[in-house]
Amino acid sequence: MSVSVEPRPAQLPLPGGREGATVRLHPLRCGEILAPPGLLERPSGPARKLRGLGFASRSRRDWPWLPVPAFLVEHPNAGAILVDTGLHPSVAIDPSQSFGRLGGRLYTFRFEAEQSVPAQLRARGLEPADVGVVVMTHLHTDHASGVSELPDATFVVDAREWDAATAPRGTLRGYRTAQFDHGFDWRTVDYGAAEVESFESFGASLDLFGDGSVRLVATPGHSAGHQSVVLRLRGREALLCGDAAYTRRAIDEDVTPLLMDDEHRWRRSLREVRRFVQRTPGLVVVPGHDGDTWSRLDDVYE
Ligand SMILES: [Zn+2]
Repeated sequence: MSVSVEPRPAQLPLPGGREGATVRLHPLRCGEILAPPGLLERPSGPARKLRGLGFASRSRRDWPWLPVPAFLVEHPNAGAILVDTGLHPSVAIDPSQSFGRLGGRLYTFRFEAEQSVPAQLRARGLEPADVGVVVMTHLHTDHASGVSELPDATFVVDAREWDAATAPRGTLRGYRTAQFDHGFDWRTVDYGAAEVESFESFGASLDLFGDGSVRLVATPGHSAGHQSVVLRLRGREALLCGDAAYTRRAIDEDVTPLLMDDEHRWRRSLREVRRFVQRTPGLVVVPGHDGDTWSRLDDVYE
């Protein structure tokens, strides 16, 4: 699929870093999406993909509502940062505007415009224009739907993810270029570059502001260029898993989701996540779409 935007390589670290900085984390719950149970935990046996997608079940009564997350991160010097963009406000009225005709029919949302990222920023005294940087864990539709609401931000995405999301037949793999093909400041990171270092259990990480406060860690497998985020809070850290782990059970037990770009890479990334979780006391762990975890999250972590 051809796109008009030509992303440029990010020059890291981005400006604004300050030695010893710690950040504040606001988890933003941007509505929910109804999903077949097999999506989180794939069934075994024949035709498991079809059954996992719910084609065999007549009722949707036992389908879980999955939270759609985004995160506001406040850096004392670099300002407001977002991780992912949640659902576009239009999804509250007509999901097909953001998700396309097919997506609009396929997905069921529980979402009100007040749950959109711009509304949640305003509720905290910020405007979308105050957001300097948006880190995209990946570009799947439930993470990129709100991109158009942040025209002034610099977007940071793994180069492999951009390539996958803009390749032919991307719609079949969970992308919709209309959501993110805007002439904004798109920047790609390259986890093969010289400045890439290992960090704790993660084989490849990038220090976004050069002060250790916001680290991007490569966790490919769910999608081609998925990245997770490690934040330094006061006296502890937070791990925003993104879809490297949908649920806490995926980390603690051996639960495999239905759809992965590359199962081998997904397993390797999950091992790195699991090791980090096991070895890091006090860590705030936020899996991608875990209703139980999200119901227990605080409004702010610092
Ligand atoms: Zn995803």
